[in-house]
Amino acid sequence: MILTERLIRDHTLTRKEYEELLEKAGNQEIRARLAQEAVRLRKLYYGDKVFTRGLIEFSNYCKNNCYYCGIRCGNPNVKRYRLSQEEILDCCENGYGLGFRTFVLQGGEDPFYTDERMAEIVREIKTRYPDCALTLSIGERSYESYRILREAGADRYLLRHETADEAHYRKLHPENMTLDNRKRCLQDLKTLGYQVGAGFMVGSPGQTGAQLAEDLCFLEELQPEMVGIGPFIPHHDTPFAEAEAGSTDLTLFLLSVIRILLPKALLPATTALGTLDPKGREKGLLAGANVVMPNLSPVKNRKQYDLYDNKICTGEEAAECRQCLARRVESVGYRLVEERGDACLS
Ligand code: SAH
Repeated sequence: MILTERLIRDHTLTRKEYEELLEKAGNQEIRARLAQEAVRLRKLYYGDKVFTRGLIEFSNYCKNNCYYCGIRCGNPNVKRYRLSQEEILDCCENGYGLGFRTFVLQGGEDPFYTDERMAEIVREIKTRYPDCALTLSIGERSYESYRILREAGADRYLLRHETADEAHYRKLHPENMTLDNRKRCLQDLKTLGYQVGAGFMVGSPGQTGAQLAEDLCFLEELQPEMVGIGPFIPHHDTPFAEAEAGSTDLTLFLLSVIRILLPKALLPATTALGTLDPKGREKGLLAGANVVMPNLSPVKNRKQYDLYDNKICTGEEAAECRQCLARRVESVGYRLVEERGDACLS
């Protein structure tokens, strides 16, 4: 039986088989077959619903120096900002009025946000909006820190593993960061009962098919509720300024494969995908994605959260972004809903 059909039947392949399948990512017919099955599964569990998350990029200070990222600490050209608790709450108020029922607080690893400060923000948001889910995406912290934030009310945590391959991890990160710690964090978050999101960039410098196969095996093992993948896009002030961007087609192919191996997963059609291809997010939805994450950050700071070049949606107000996305979602036959959008359990 050919690999595609085996994956569709068994929802799993070996690492070698994933690698072989990935070699066929350029084959239009195979891509279409995988997308067809991915869409069947997402419709089975989520119908025509697309969930939406209000993304609040609340700090671009970061103590890390990841070689791919525009806001790495080693980039002296970033104008750094931090939102106050008041400003964050204003974003939530605006978002709630627009129909968002999940807020995502994302930032660099900013030591200013101690457990105490962070827990206070989490508690305040959850008190004001008890019907909303709160997601954190603030990088690697200790078990104790994750525990405090979970107790304060955080429901979900996004921490892309970036790459599950040790050698590739070393190419993308400085010495003081380790894949083991990244994995430890994901395990801790699971243990603490967070809905967990892992993920990786597609086409990051030096990435091979074998490494992507490793990422797929890692996802299978971890069984995260959410998986964020998007193409790598170079940023002019990083060591990878001259590197090539990832591919839209390979990202779409992987979205379909991930939908099949984790049928109930929450999969965003990411901003990076929309940046690389003007119809990227629509294509993502047609490949199996079921989440979009429009920006709720204050317009005055949008451009400063500059992870990669030419990032879209940095000029519009949140209301415009939401409307624009609602239209895009409808253009491919789905609808944006006003729900928390938890992972389907049945
Ligand atoms: N500090 C948090 C949030 C990181 S930003 C954390 O460590 O989780 C969110 C994601 O943006 C990263 O996980 C990374 O996968 C992605 N990203 C960073 N630089 C990028 C680039 N140049 N191109 C595409 N995606 C990038």
